[in-house]
Amino acid sequence: MKRIYFDHNATTPLAPEVLAAMMPYLTEEYGNASSIHAYGQNAREAVEQARASVAALLGARPAEIMFNSGGTESSNHAILGTVAAAPGKTKHVITSAIEHVAVLDPCRALAKSGVDLTILPVNRGGLVNPEDVSRAIRPETVLITVMLANNETGTIEPIEVIGKIAAQKGIVLHADAVQAAGKIPIEVDRLGVNLLSISAHKFSGPKGVGALYIRKGTYLAQLMYGGHSERDRRPGTEDVAAIAGMGKAAELALANMSIEGERTRGLRDRLEQGLLDRVPQSWVNSASAPRVHNTCNMTFPFIEGEAMVIALDLKGIACSTGAACSSGAVEPSHVLLALGLAPEDARATLRLSLGRRNTEDEVDFALETIPQVIERLRSISPVYKKPANA
Ligand code: PLP
Repeated sequence: MKRIYFDHNATTPLAPEVLAAMMPYLTEEYGNASSIHAYGQNAREAVEQARASVAALLGARPAEIMFNSGGTESSNHAILGTVAAAPGKTKHVITSAIEHVAVLDPCRALAKSGVDLTILPVNRGGLVNPEDVSRAIRPETVLITVMLANNETGTIEPIEVIGKIAAQKGIVLHADAVQAAGKIPIEVDRLGVNLLSISAHKFSGPKGVGALYIRKGTYLAQLMYGGHSERDRRPGTEDVAAIAGMGKAAELALANMSIEGERTRGLRDRLEQGLLDRVPQSWVNSASAPRVHNTCNMTFPFIEGEAMVIALDLKGIACSTGAACSSGAVEPSHVLLALGLAPEDARATLRLSLGRRNTEDEVDFALETIPQVIERLRSISPVYKKPANA
């Protein structure tokens, strides 16, 4: 059976060039990057080269890049580390309702320990209103954390505007850019962020490695103790192979971003329009908002997203309903609820996220298969109401 992968926001396949860049450090170049002998120096060189490549992807300086285990650790470190380092007894944090749990959960943990938390709503398109950010700021606000691109709908949030507001008030701004890095150009200075989280496996790199951009002068408490790596900020022996892979993935992403972006946008738009044309009573979520080029989030009322994902998997199409990280949970996606979708419509939603290897033929196959699957599931759905003119 032909298998098609439309779940690139969950994770991406490793690029062959990335595997090639990692191989030496999984085999003969096994030195510890902290050792002073030649083995160690070769490993150190690989880490520093990768740091420069990741910095280039973000328009940052290499010294501002800290490697770690991925997006979840980056956001936890940014949020918990900023709040712990901030002076004062009363502390206030601002975030948005559409954040990934890697941001929402540490914020909620802080709220449990006495930190004031404001969770801002989004509009129907899924966008945070910067004026809401302004209004939420208090004298004790120590952190604003809003994502750059949403993992479910692909919306690109107005971080640049929020950055200006944060800078005016001298408040630390963190952006979860896990779904933006490698897809859209990022320049940390233009965005005005102090902290920015990225993860290699979302842009053809290996899993379990990521980076936190820390603007020079931003003070962050350590999360872990036990050594001096990453400028004393993140102890533990560096995973040299994974870091080298992330560096190569960053280089490839930067080099191919505009061509690959155009190509994927073409495929995504054709898939989206084709499904709208073929499936009555369906819609695209966040269609009116600026979105990353690869993400298609559509609601097909009257059926369960889980049932669609299983039925499509049997036909060879891998996609997801809501965020992959929360699959297994039956609750409707908090992102779609924040957009104002009814819980049953949020449940009837599919996320199709495209990537480097997807082709026109795959989109054609999906345009044949997905409407058939939906029609069949609707025909057995007890809640299905045919439109009057059908
Ligand atoms: N933030 C966003 C927006 C994500 O989509 C994800 C993963 O799905 C993460 C954070 C977590 O990243 P990681 O898998 O590297 O921990």
